[in-house]
Amino acid sequence: MPLISIVVPMYNEEAVVADFFARINKVVADVATYDFEIVVVNDGSTDSTLVLLKEQQKQQNNIVIVNLARNFGHEPAVSAGLHVAKGEAVIPIDADLQDPPEIIPEMIQKYETGFEVVNARRASRKEDSFMKRFTAKKFYDYMTRISGKIKVPSNVGHYRLISRRVVDEVNALTESTRVFRVEVPYIGHKTTEVLFSRQKRVKGKSHYNYHAMFDLAFNAIISSSIKPVYWPLWTAIWIGFLTGLSLLAELVLFILAQTSVINFAINFELWLIINSIFVVGTITLLVLGIIAIYVGKTFIEAQGRPFYVIDEVLTKKEN
Ligand code: UDP
Ligand code: MG
Repeated sequence: MPLISIVVPMYNEEAVVADFFARINKVVADVATYDFEIVVVNDGSTDSTLVLLKEQQKQQNNIVIVNLARNFGHEPAVSAGLHVAKGEAVIPIDADLQDPPEIIPEMIQKYETGFEVVNARRASRKEDSFMKRFTAKKFYDYMTRISGKIKVPSNVGHYRLISRRVVDEVNALTESTRVFRVEVPYIGHKTTEVLFSRQKRVKGKSHYNYHAMFDLAFNAIISSSIKPVYWPLWTAIWIGFLTGLSLLAELVLFILAQTSVINFAINFELWLIINSIFVVGTITLLVLGIIAIYVGKTFIEAQGRPFYVIDEVLTKKEN
């Protein structure tokens, strides 16, 4: 039977291991036309996740444990899983059951009709806080603006089905800053989606705070586009334009001069000079900052370090 791989990163998920397998096994059992392997990437957990995984592996044949050498992070962990997965299609999913496994059969159906990417898109984010919704919206809006020909679908995280061809293309990307949700649309191919409502984490707690989310958004932008480098240029052009306008206004005032207006003009001039100092200073720092970000990025990529290191891959035989 053809094989489908489910890739699950786990970092300190001892609270959800049992629930995860209970839910996923049930779904998978109902799909009679495929075999499934569940590739669990243990991303340097410091709790008993690995022990629980090994226990689970004794009870079921189709688990592959990819044990990373330390904690590398969500994106690198998924990437490690994608490299190990052997299926003709691969489905990355979060361990905490926020991505309901029950839509997998629907994703497979769409795959069978010829789609190579089946995105699982959150139909609503009602369960998220206002801040999370707001920042997510801004992020996707901005991604859409800068991505040019690439369409980064909004509210699609890791959860989706991708065909073997897409998996191989994603694996062949060389950048060490991995942002899966941008890589897949970058590759392209026939794409569709399945809607779902995102659940609350069943147990355990989220590893993403605002700082980590900001990091992800930032990486997504910086590794997709060099458009931010043009911001300072446009800002400079606008400031130049506005300065020109205000000088013109002053000239007009001067020509129409009457004492009271002159007073006003002098004050206005002062105000303009003080403001200019701040504006020019800020813009200079902004330009330097943006350049520094890209130089830093180039440095990281030039180093060419592996972005994950595998300690061992355990199948049932080795356990
Ligand atoms: N995760 C990981 N390494 C990390 C952080 C998270 O492998 O350093 C995994 C985690 O176990 C979960 C998934 O990535 O399966 C998503 O993490 P989480 O649920 O904490 O993120 P959120 O849903 O809050 O965005
Ligand atoms: Mg989660």
